[in-house]
Amino acid sequence: MATVKSDIEIAREAKMKPIMEIGKGLGIPEKDLIPYGHTKAKVALSYIDSLKSKKNGKLILVTAINPTPAGEGKTTTTVGLGDGLNRIGKKAMVALREPSLGPCFGMKGGAAGGGYAQIVPMEDINLHFTGDFHAITSAHNLLSAMIDNHIYWGNELGIDTRRVAWRRVMDMNDRALREIVCSLGGVANGYPREAGFDITVASEIMAILCLSTSIEDLERRIGQIVIGYKKDKSPVLAKDIKAPGAMVVLLKDALQPNLVQTLENNPAFVHGGPFANIAHGCNSVMATQSALKLADYVVTEAGFGADLGAEKFFDIKCRKAGLSPSATVIVATVRALKMHGGAAKDELKTENVEVLKKGLANLGRHIENVKKFGVPIAVAINHFISDTDAEVQAVIDYCKTHGVEAFRCTHWAEGGKGTEALAKHVAELADKGSAQFKPIYDENVSLFDKVKTIAREIYRADDVVADKSVRDQLKAWEAAGYGKFPICMAKTQYSFSTDPNLKGAPTNHVLPVREVRLSAGAEFIVVICGDIMTMPGLPKVPSAEVIGLDDKGQIVGLF
Ligand code: ADP
Ligand code: MG
Repeated sequence: MATVKSDIEIAREAKMKPIMEIGKGLGIPEKDLIPYGHTKAKVALSYIDSLKSKKNGKLILVTAINPTPAGEGKTTTTVGLGDGLNRIGKKAMVALREPSLGPCFGMKGGAAGGGYAQIVPMEDINLHFTGDFHAITSAHNLLSAMIDNHIYWGNELGIDTRRVAWRRVMDMNDRALREIVCSLGGVANGYPREAGFDITVASEIMAILCLSTSIEDLERRIGQIVIGYKKDKSPVLAKDIKAPGAMVVLLKDALQPNLVQTLENNPAFVHGGPFANIAHGCNSVMATQSALKLADYVVTEAGFGADLGAEKFFDIKCRKAGLSPSATVIVATVRALKMHGGAAKDELKTENVEVLKKGLANLGRHIENVKKFGVPIAVAINHFISDTDAEVQAVIDYCKTHGVEAFRCTHWAEGGKGTEALAKHVAELADKGSAQFKPIYDENVSLFDKVKTIAREIYRADDVVADKSVRDQLKAWEAAGYGKFPICMAKTQYSFSTDPNLKGAPTNHVLPVREVRLSAGAEFIVVICGDIMTMPGLPKVPSAEVIGLDDKGQIVGLF
């Protein structure tokens, strides 16, 4: 049997085109592409501005069943479908998140697709790329420094140093920095207080950058960030300490979408990468909106399963940016469905249609849920070598009972050729114009009612339980003018419920809300159900131990 090539081996064999050529294919004039080397470029904001009056292409969301350790392959399928659409003669591009650098040194595995469905140059995309995350880190920490500096020089605003809400960030998995005491070492170093670090992708600046529609909008949102509270508990905003101008200076290039290509030389925007729990988990609005002006079909991914990722994509990103998706692709794998049916991880290689059929309930519920948003659906069965014909057929038959077509997709092994049938169907769905997109809740209902709607309609929970303090906090925010904000749910991605072990389609559960947080700049309310980690750690044997350069100067051990 031929050995399977690793993602990085395949990526390295790519015959990349100069990025100016990729841009030309989209009609972007050379002067409006800012090259970062030969295979990456940013698109000038002035050019994007000039596209405003152009007609939009069709937006296709790729989402998935609840993830399992078996792997689903949303990014891989997004890239594969983009290539498939191009293969059947459509003008298509993909829009994806930028991966975070920190996790690359923990577990092996990148976030630029896999097999023959990848975006390149993959090492760059996974590491420093065009410096966006470094810019976000700098802007975030400038605000942190200005807060402590304000306190040091007399604290004119009267910030309660016990209630500073703005932490620091870095793009590294470093559990040692989760909780720290800063300003130690004497009078010259300020007033000691508890502080901490989050990973850059968890920064509110990341969420803000990804939801901003212009430099002005970026500055307005940054100004609204609540950095802490005064003794009387009234909020202090970033604009109160005059930080937004300088932060925007650091972020102005980062707001420009990054253009790269797939292994099949089709265009891809890779831009922004907010957490999918305390933030909304999809690439920037700038990239999606620009892509819609440049291509007839835009395929984009939302993080986690459809209960979290698609819901937030629809209720936060699409609602706020005025986007109207034309079709949704739900990715499922036979392996993951078997796990939802009760199979253990080491049993996935043997055929088991009965267990698979049990697990299909998870897919079925996601199909029903996405229908509630008024967007037509197709199912992509991301094919693994161990899948049998009988298993694939069982998925196809089941989807038919929901009025949805499912396709065996072999893009991981074959590239765009492996998604042609799916691509044809998705293009037809989108072209029919049958989508009648609507968010699941109205922005004018109370914040707690929004949470209840998501819990009941999407998670199928019987009820929501929250302490009085949580409900009072939500009411206080309504009184302070934040009542129209959408909800950003933070719960486990592994189950419809808050118990990661409840696979399939659980019922008879309630949604316990532990904590609520205000992201006033990102303009959403984070509702936390369960433990959420905003600064990951490294595993016992981090992949950093085996990463290095070989004698040709190529990176080894990363993927
Ligand atoms: P997601 O976006 O859902 O997190 P990815 O697309 O990033 O998932 O895929 C996760 C990993 O699984 C990648 O390393 C990819 O190479 C691998 N993978 C995806 N699809 C397949 C497949 N059909 N066969 C084997 N490995 C796959
Ligand atoms: Mg992904």
